Amino acid sequence: MMRLPRFRFVSPQSVGEAVDVLAALSPGDAVIVAGGTDLVPNMKRRQQTPGTLVGLRAIDALRAIGNGDGLTIGAAVTLSRLIRALEPYRGGGYDALRQAAAQVATPHLRNMGTIGGNLCLDTRCNYYDQNYEWRKAIDFCLKKDGETCWVAPSSRRCLAVSSTDSAPALMALGASVELRDANGSRDVPLSALYRNDGIDYIARRPNEILTFIRLPRLDRWRSAYWKLRRRGYFDFPVLSVAAAVKFGHDGSVENARVVLGAVASCPIEAGVREILAGHPLSHERIAEAAHAAAQPARPMDNTDFTLVWRKRMVKSFVTYALRELRGDDMRADRYKIARQLL
Ligand SMILES: Cc1cc2nc3c(=O)[nH]c(=O)nc-3n(C[C@H](O)[C@H](O)[C@H](O)COP(=O)(O)OP(=O)(O)OC[C@H]3O[C@@H](n4cnc5c(N)ncnc54)[C@H](O)[C@@H]3O)c2cc1C
Repeated sequence: MMRLPRFRFVSPQSVGEAVDVLAALSPGDAVIVAGGTDLVPNMKRRQQTPGTLVGLRAIDALRAIGNGDGLTIGAAVTLSRLIRALEPYRGGGYDALRQAAAQVATPHLRNMGTIGGNLCLDTRCNYYDQNYEWRKAIDFCLKKDGETCWVAPSSRRCLAVSSTDSAPALMALGASVELRDANGSRDVPLSALYRNDGIDYIARRPNEILTFIRLPRLDRWRSAYWKLRRRGYFDFPVLSVAAAVKFGHDGSVENARVVLGAVASCPIEAGVREILAGHPLSHERIAEAAHAAAQPARPMDNTDFTLVWRKRMVKSFVTYALRELRGDDMRADRYKIARQLL
């Protein structure tokens, strides 16, 4: 049995108290915990060994969802609750987020896991997500305690993979987040929150709390999330595609965003707007957009399946997502993928 290292637990009752607690502690030593579904296993594997955990679950403001001009989602809202809250918007622009949240882990983990924790999720790698003894046996890796990236030994950059389901979806929907510390708050578009570096993967300072996620109104947008994973019931993504399209009154595309997940250390926006805008979503346009979207995908050999197949699947998944948005019945294609994975 893997045991947790010793730590101190602090449970602030307000955001103000939480940022003061974090400001008073040394940044490397204090770590925020929300649902703990990722952090606690990481601590058991000694990937993180913080002296103090600062819990967010007692802070009511972070568990609220507001709908004014768009949606404001508290970072400590659980994924299960978020899925239920998005149900009335089914068929509209927020679908990709509901679909992504509903495919994170298992029902139990979604009952504990939060949207803020999902956005701040550590990057993953076959050489890192192992217990301490396993990692010690290979002399550790670049991400922690070692000097070599075992995925690509000549790489000076850690290639661990961004495996959050909600980040690509929220990026495709044009979301931003509020980050707050003892000195104030700042709004960061989600597209600027992540860095393509498996160690330094998020532009959040250690003493900053991700407090809220803001989504614009998405009138006339539709969106979809497609996730490739080995087990259909639960697994981290080895590729994901979030697609969002705004349709004009004549049915042609006015705006479009496609974001790829799990193909790099951060979600990657694929430039498809110029290809799709001003045209209906025809087979030809979709094929061109899917081809272009696959270009920036650089999967590495550090997660499930072969990288060649995962790269090939980018084109297929972008095609599926865009076809879903134009209203095609995708049940046969979903069945075909599930059979391929058996
Ligand atoms: C078996 C298993 C399967 C899983 N499958 C998936 C999957 O398919 N897809 C997926 O995306 N995830 C998956 N996860 C990971 C995890 O369950 C989810 O990502 C979950 O949403 C994390 O949220 P949490 O509240 O539990 O985060 P925590 O574990 O509490 O925190 C995760 C990280 O975020 C930081 N953090 C949390 N909240 C904040 C905040 N408000 N501000 C700043 N930093 C914060 C923490 O310091 C920590 O570094 C899986 C986990 C397990 C154990």
